Amino acid sequence: MKLFSDYHSHPQGHRVQPYSQDLLQPWVDSARKVGLRDIAFTDHDRYREGVVFAEIDRLRENNPDIKIRAGIELDNDPRHSAAGRKWVEDHWDALDFVLGSVHFLEDDDEMFDSVPRGAGQFEGRDIDAIFADYFRRVREIATSGLVDCLAHIDLIKIHGHQPRRDIAAMIDETLELVRARGMAIELSTAGWRKPVNELYPSDPIIRAAVAKGIPFTTASDAHSHVQLGEGFERLAEKMSKFGIQEISVFEKHKGQGRVLCTL
Ligand SMILES: [Zn+2]
Ligand SMILES: [Zn+2]
Repeated sequence: MKLFSDYHSHPQGHRVQPYSQDLLQPWVDSARKVGLRDIAFTDHDRYREGVVFAEIDRLRENNPDIKIRAGIELDNDPRHSAAGRKWVEDHWDALDFVLGSVHFLEDDDEMFDSVPRGAGQFEGRDIDAIFADYFRRVREIATSGLVDCLAHIDLIKIHGHQPRRDIAAMIDETLELVRARGMAIELSTAGWRKPVNELYPSDPIIRAAVAKGIPFTTASDAHSHVQLGEGFERLAEKMSKFGIQEISVFEKHKGQGRVLCTL
């Protein structure tokens, strides 16, 4: 199976680097090289100042063979997310795709998913309580009305922690919300390069999402253009095992039905 779309990428990395052809063209070149035909730029909303829609338009004109989606990764940053949400609302019509993420727990200053520092937030804590708190926050961002797709829905496992209690009911509640709101979730290979060394999401969550008919996107969470499509062959194998043959692509927030992956 050949996957053709990568809907999670960070051209700016972790700082503001305003969009320009020099910044973005290497991403399209890399996409083309690895056989991707549909990509979304989803920089963190805290770097929204660098998102220049006119540059994305120019990039589209220069690269008509690749679909290029204007996106953003909106998270629960306690300092920036209010302004981020406002920005998403103000630019809703220019955006194709909004990812929703939870990167913050109780610590306002540090993302829990920074490696290895974020693991400190788990030390000496009740892991089950952390999982419950995390999924509560996921449901909160899912109900913002501003999100098309949830990113790395079980990111909380990043440092390798596993819940002690059965979380099936919590997952079901979360996925039910996703289904009811018509959102997608992503299959992200980023988990394979983190300490947990596991796809986001885990197999039981994929199984539950398939059972609910929730659509998927495919994603690398690339922070460098060479990471685009990383691990996609392995992901394709996994998707075949689950019988997933279609993924969602987005234009102006509308999942355009499901598009068949080329098997
Ligand atoms: Zn993220
Ligand atoms: Zn990301």
